[in-house]
Amino acid sequence: MGRDAAVDHVHDRLLAWYDRHGRDLPWRVRGAARPDPYRVWLSEIMLQQTTVATVGPYFRAFLQRWPTVADMAAAPVEAVLDAWAGLGYYARARNMHRCAQVIRGEFAGIFPDDEVRLRQLPGIGPYTAAAVAAIAFDRRASVVDGNVERVVARLFAVETPLPAAKAHLRDLAAGLLPADSPTDFRYGDFAQAMMDLGATVCLPRAPRCDLCPLAPGCAGRSAGIADTLPHQAAKTPRPTRRGVAFWIERPDGAILLRRRPREAGWCDSAAPPAAARFAWRHAGTALDRLARDRLAARRGPRGSTVAGGLAAVTGDRSPHLYPFSSGTGRLGWIGG
Ligand code: SF4
Repeated sequence: MGRDAAVDHVHDRLLAWYDRHGRDLPWRVRGAARPDPYRVWLSEIMLQQTTVATVGPYFRAFLQRWPTVADMAAAPVEAVLDAWAGLGYYARARNMHRCAQVIRGEFAGIFPDDEVRLRQLPGIGPYTAAAVAAIAFDRRASVVDGNVERVVARLFAVETPLPAAKAHLRDLAAGLLPADSPTDFRYGDFAQAMMDLGATVCLPRAPRCDLCPLAPGCAGRSAGIADTLPHQAAKTPRPTRRGVAFWIERPDGAILLRRRPREAGWCDSAAPPAAARFAWRHAGTALDRLARDRLAARRGPRGSTVAGGLAAVTGDRSPHLYPFSSGTGRLGWIGG
């Protein structure tokens, strides 16, 4: 099926499917009501590089603590960074706080409602600007995340590998929006429907084409190649990095934390003491010395226990932990 035929049937089918099967998410509003732009923005920033399941509790906790963008802007950045701990990519939290301050200071606490002005705000790139414009304000905007890239690659049977295919996939996704830009089109729902389709039906390894509202016009499915798309260019292997982290606990249960340096990309976030630069083959000796001389003796009060682990972060960034513990000053291996 050609591109025009594929586009023709997409809107009605996809929106009808979304009305019945779209996900209920904490930041989502269904029906005619419009969602709070603050909630849409907050969720989209949190969802960058992070799963929906992980984001849910953070999203609720942030809203409880800072119900409006002005509340967040008034908070110390350290409080926002601490509340963010565990979501990773801490530059997001720092930019988010700066963005809240700009919206409070320059926009009277009201989010701009178009992509162009949204993109000028700290931490808001093309994707987030499009998502906020479409979802919060029903603006005509093409929202393309990884899920949507996959759906579009399959829908049009695009065999060029990623990332080279990105621009072409963005063009194809934009072409799925109604050409005559009707003002009553559900742009926000359409964007969320595409995301949901990718997240729940057009799954990476095994697309569930029998449940898909777009199956009749899907070129990838017709060609029998849907599950192989999108192709990925071969990745350059990443080096393995190794380090050690310490868990130091006082008798009253308090945990020793330090602020990680902003210039190293950690944005002052709190974390247990850790060391990364020593030869792996000397790790055991280094652990003993670090725990005895720098941590347990100097900073841990009498009665503290020291525990921690060696972490080898491999090319795919999955940390592999080798735990150890010590309550007496000399480290004893309990695993690995
Ligand atoms: Fe994805 Fe299958 Fe739907 Fe095509 S028919 S968009 S491959 S789930």
